Amino acid sequence: MKVLVLNCGSSSLKFQLIETDEQKIARDEDVALARGIVDNIGSEAVLKVDLPSRGTTLRETAEVLDHKAAVSRALELLTRPEAGVLADPAEIGAVGHRVVHGGERFHASVLIDDEVLRAIESCFDIAPLHNPPNVKGYRAAREALPAAPQAAVFDTSFHQTLAPEAYLYGLPYVLYERHGIRRYGFHGTSHRYVSARLARHVGREGDPALRVVTCHLGNGCSITAIRGGRSVDTSMGFTPLEGLLMGTRSGDLDAAAALHVMRKEELGEREAQALLNKHSGLLGLSGVSNDMRALLEAEAQGNPRAKLAIDVFCYRLRKYVGAYAAALGGLDALAFAGGIGENAAAIRERALHGLEGLGLRVDPERNAAANGVEARISPEGAPVAVAVIPTNEELLIARDAYRLVAGLPLA
Ligand code: ADP
Repeated sequence: MKVLVLNCGSSSLKFQLIETDEQKIARDEDVALARGIVDNIGSEAVLKVDLPSRGTTLRETAEVLDHKAAVSRALELLTRPEAGVLADPAEIGAVGHRVVHGGERFHASVLIDDEVLRAIESCFDIAPLHNPPNVKGYRAAREALPAAPQAAVFDTSFHQTLAPEAYLYGLPYVLYERHGIRRYGFHGTSHRYVSARLARHVGREGDPALRVVTCHLGNGCSITAIRGGRSVDTSMGFTPLEGLLMGTRSGDLDAAAALHVMRKEELGEREAQALLNKHSGLLGLSGVSNDMRALLEAEAQGNPRAKLAIDVFCYRLRKYVGAYAAALGGLDALAFAGGIGENAAAIRERALHGLEGLGLRVDPERNAAANGVEARISPEGAPVAVAVIPTNEELLIARDAYRLVAGLPLA
C-alpha cells in the first residue's frame, strides 16, 4: 500500500510517500519513495522533493497560499512522470497525519472520523500552536483524496501509560481536573520506534521486563524511560518546553524564575513564550548558535560560552539518564537518536561520562564509527547495551495508517 504521510506545521508541510505492507514490514523493506517539503506556506513557497530511488531532487518555488494548496502541490509533484513514484493520486491507500496533541483521550493511533476530529480540535486549547495546522492538513488531504482513509498518529499517545506519580505536577489537584495541567510528553512516535528497534537490536523483542532509556536529541530534545515497550516517564511535560536543554528551548526551569523575569523585563505572555521557546537553550546560553555542529566547532576554536552550553546540555542529559535508571529500577539498554544523537559522537561520550557505575560504557572506536546508522557503541559484554538507533517517525506513521486500514493490530 502507498501511504502519504503528512506533517503540517504553521507554515510548512512535510510529506513522505511510503510503500508498506505486512511482508515489507517484517523484512524491513518498507521505504520512502519520496520525501518532500513545502516551506513558507502563505507566500512564495519553496517546494522540494527527494526521490531516493532516482537519486534526484525536484526543486521549485511557487505561490502557495494555504495548506490546501500545499497538499495539491505536493500531489502534483508526486504524480509527475519524472518523479516516477505515483501515476495517479488514487493509488494512495491511506494518509497518515502526525498530530502533536491527543490529550488524555488518545492512547494509540486512530482512523479519523468526525468524532475523532472533534476530540483533536478540543485539544486546541492545550496545543494552540500545533494542533490547528495538523487539522488544516487533515482537511486539505480529505478534500484532495476523498477516497483515502486518514489516520492520526499522536506525539503524546505513547506516553499515556505514565502513572499519576509520573505525570502529575505538585500543583493543586483541581488544576489537573479543570485545565488538564499534567505531563503529557511528546516525541512519542520517535521513542516508540526507537525503543522497539532497540529491543530487537538487543534480541529482547516483546520482553515485558526489558528496561530501556531512549534519548531523542534533535532541535527538540527529550528522554524517555520505557519498561517492556511502555513509557514509564518522559522529560517533556505539559508542553515540549520541559526537560532537557534544547536548541532554543530552556528545558527545566524554576517557574518562579520565569515569573520574575517577566516582571523585571516587562514581558507579556507572548514575549515570555518566545523567550523560553525560541531564544533560550543552546542558543541562549552560548550566544553563538542553536546548532550543535556550529557549537562544537566554536568550542574547538576556544569559545568558552559554546563550551558552557554544551556542558549544560551533556550534564542535564546525564542527570536524566541517572534519574530514569532509578525510575526503572535498573537499565538494560540505552539508545541515542535524532540529529545530535545519531551524529554527534562527542556528545554521546560526554553525556555518559562518569556513569560507569550504572553499567553505562562507551567504546571510543565504536562510538566514533557510528554515524547515522544503527550500531552498538558499548564495548562487548558491557552490562548496559548502548546503541545509536536512527529514528524514523514517518515510517511508523505509515505503518500505523496501513495497519489501521488493513484492520491489523498496531505493533
Ligand atoms: P529536528 O528536531 O528539527 O528534526 P534534527 O533531528 O535534524 O532536528 O537535529 C538537528 C540537530 O542535530 C542540530 O543541532 C544539528 O547541529 C545536529 N547535528 C546534525 N548532524 C550533526 C553532526 N554531524 N554533529 C553534531 N550535530 C549534528
